[in-house]
Amino acid sequence: MSINCQTCLIDGEWCSASDEAVVPVLCPSDGMQFTSISSGGAQEIDKAVRAARNAFDHGQWSTLTATERGRLLYRLSTAIAENGDRLAQLEAQDTGKPMKQARADMVATARYFEYYGAAADKVHGETIPYLNGYQVQVIREPFGVTGHIIPWNYPAQMFGRTLAPALAMGNAVVLKPAEDACMVPIALGKLATEIGFPPGAINIVTGIGAVAGAALAEHPGVDFLSFTGSPEVGVLVQCAAAKRHIGCTLELGGKSPQILFADANLDAAIPVLCNAIVQNGGQTCSAGSRVLIQASIYDQVVERLATAFTQLTAGGSEEDTELGGLISARQQKRVQGFIDRATAPVIARGQISEKASDTGFFVAPALFGPVDEQCELAREEVFGPVLSCMTFDDESDAIRIANDTDYGLVAGVWTDNASIQMRMAKALRVGQVFLNGFGAGAGIELPFGGVGKSGHGREKGFAALHEFSTLKTIIQNHG
Ligand code: NAD
Repeated sequence: MSINCQTCLIDGEWCSASDEAVVPVLCPSDGMQFTSISSGGAQEIDKAVRAARNAFDHGQWSTLTATERGRLLYRLSTAIAENGDRLAQLEAQDTGKPMKQARADMVATARYFEYYGAAADKVHGETIPYLNGYQVQVIREPFGVTGHIIPWNYPAQMFGRTLAPALAMGNAVVLKPAEDACMVPIALGKLATEIGFPPGAINIVTGIGAVAGAALAEHPGVDFLSFTGSPEVGVLVQCAAAKRHIGCTLELGGKSPQILFADANLDAAIPVLCNAIVQNGGQTCSAGSRVLIQASIYDQVVERLATAFTQLTAGGSEEDTELGGLISARQQKRVQGFIDRATAPVIARGQISEKASDTGFFVAPALFGPVDEQCELAREEVFGPVLSCMTFDDESDAIRIANDTDYGLVAGVWTDNASIQMRMAKALRVGQVFLNGFGAGAGIELPFGGVGKSGHGREKGFAALHEFSTLKTIIQNHG
């Protein structure tokens, strides 16, 4: 077991917490500690915010053109791709995800820096026709120092998703990764310094959410906050932002429906339905955790899903089964609690691999149905491999049930009827709608985010560049 406690990156230097406090890091595949991270606190956050402020106001970072920033992001993308195998190994050890998922995550992380590297010098302002004798320009400016609090489910991807657009716009960033999984964000911070990001442009403080996370959310030197995680902590972050009159984006998960009409192509749909709940062990904010099935095909769909579910296996990362262990014993207990409390019949269960460690955090996938609209499994985010099957009669019934949760992140609609597709897409209270498909977390180019308890603001695509910047209108009276 290696102890590496210099896990905070502040002003280009790696350091440990001033009180030398550490947090143990466990591998979900066997539940064993394999390293430790620094438990940074208010002091480290304060230093990191000051370093970011200096980088933004006076440092080398502030002198770079948009093209030069873009090139740095692009270089980081290349470095991530070159180190993909090593980073994927580390991500799998830290999160318990299967190696194939970890490798796919590294490809996506490199892609974030590629996309935003290429976009950095393509964010244009506009001019507005106004009174005679006036010239009006609207320019887009970075906020300054942006604070980023990310979760444990996709540590590498979240690093790319939230930092790449903020950096592309010219902000200097302070990141608080999740204490349950932050080894790859630390490794990416190392790569970023190696390839030439100037001191203070990227700062990382590892530590406990209620300490380091809260200190970042409340720091008066932060100009904008980006948070992904639980709705409960999202409320705290939003309150902290409101107290200082700054903006924030919140991405807080979902209870995303996949809606199958009677004419749905089941050969295409069934594998997608399974993957959308099994990917990353169901620990995906946009997991398709409810399947709404038109009553006339309910039995047929459930039978096919049951067959697919019985073939799913949870195992250690290296075994590369369909899903790995969950992130922690706490999450394992939480997900098991949903399964134990379920009032709906169990239709099918997958299994835990015979080779899996007894001390790993595994939960066998579970398929339930018919699930009553009012019960916990129909309304609450499980964040595990648990799929709820429900029935509907007609289009309006489908819309009513799909919209009847506090969340609103993603939806999938399966039908070849183009009129139904478009009416559904317009009626669903979500941020993203897939028609004859479903991509849990897919598409760096595609604006992503939710409504209601799923949060607000948009990540990915050009929308993220707009979130991490503000408009200034310049009105010139030139006579
Ligand atoms: P969490 O909200 O506690 O943690 C997310 C991040 O917030 C972590 O970096 C954490 O350190 C930080 N944090 C925690 N308390 C904080 C505070 N008081 N102030 C500032 N930052 C703080 O999430 P969790 O407890 O790790 O998971 C609980 C549930 O949240 C999950 O079961 C799942 O339902 C949901 N979740 C959603 C997502 C998502 O992608 N939307 C990700 C992780 C968890």
